[in-house]
Amino acid sequence: TAKTEGRSHVCFFRKESESSFSSRLSLEQDLYHALEKEQFSLYYQPQVNMVTGEIVGAEALMRWKHPVHGYIPPVKFIPLLEDIGLIKPVGEWVLNTACHQQKSWASKYSAPFHMSVNLSPKQFEEDTLVSSVKKALNLSGMNAAHLKLEITESMLLNEEGRALEMLNRLNEIGVGVSIDDFGTGYSSLSYLKRFPIQTIKIDRAFVKDIEQDKRDQLIIKAIIDLSRALNVGIIAEGAETINQINCLREAECHTVQGYFFSQPVPPEIFEQKLPEWTKLAEIISRSRK
Ligand code: C2E
Ligand code: MG
Ligand code: MG
Ligand code: MG
Repeated sequence: TAKTEGRSHVCFFRKESESSFSSRLSLEQDLYHALEKEQFSLYYQPQVNMVTGEIVGAEALMRWKHPVHGYIPPVKFIPLLEDIGLIKPVGEWVLNTACHQQKSWASKYSAPFHMSVNLSPKQFEEDTLVSSVKKALNLSGMNAAHLKLEITESMLLNEEGRALEMLNRLNEIGVGVSIDDFGTGYSSLSYLKRFPIQTIKIDRAFVKDIEQDKRDQLIIKAIIDLSRALNVGIIAEGAETINQINCLREAECHTVQGYFFSQPVPPEIFEQKLPEWTKLAEIISRSRK
């Protein structure tokens, strides 16, 4: 009957939500020890200048290898880290690790090599962010000008005065700030005028259909032209195919990051692949459509 069906439905639903609730709880418990148990690592994804044919930098992306569940994606565990108040120490570990890596690569590799590090909203609100960044720079000996911190548009929206102050303080110590996932939030190109931002990263959503979608092409072109006029750097995210690469080049987007060159990889693989990526970037930079 409908009644028993309804009951079994309720029962099923309760069981499901209970299990996802308990799995969230147990993931949170496991996160408390993940740092000391060295379950976190950073993968790196190359950023490629298609005009000069150089690998101009890398984005550091966090990975968590859970002893039972295997790799858990950052979109799942980073909000949990925020909730349980661990994003600050873990974020500092990310900064330190990424800065050390940059320093090591910068000394082996001649081109100026940037390191991009993502910040979560709570980190960006913390007064201690600037001192954490300074510490990571000092400990690693990395050049501040080669560090780029990635924030999202929504972080600028909250308490505008505070965000501006934080950006100014970061700029004062010579660190650049990028707007990540540009175009997906409450995008406003006026941000580029109001805030001292060095780079914007065009979200993958605009790159995905760039071949077919005339509007995406126009939006990307407009973002690029304005950014260039305002002297703000541009990186297109999520370029996967040669056709997307060609469309981006046509729009005069010089720098890309995406699976076309590589997925994020562990540092050893990054070093191994660097010559290969450089070769590919050189071929693209020389080819004219
Ligand atoms: P994000 O900063 O926008 O990073 C780019 C994401 O897009 C990465 O996912 C990357 O693997 C993926 N991606 C890059 N190229 C392509 C492509 O061509 N196609 C497709 N389909 N995807 C591509 P990932 O590593 O899973 O990270 C997801 C998000 O988690 C990041 O988005 C960032 O917001 C956050 N995150 C990662 N590491 C950290 C961290 O250390 N701290 C903080 N606060 N957030 C982090
Ligand atoms: Mg990012
Ligand atoms: Mg992004
Ligand atoms: Mg993001």
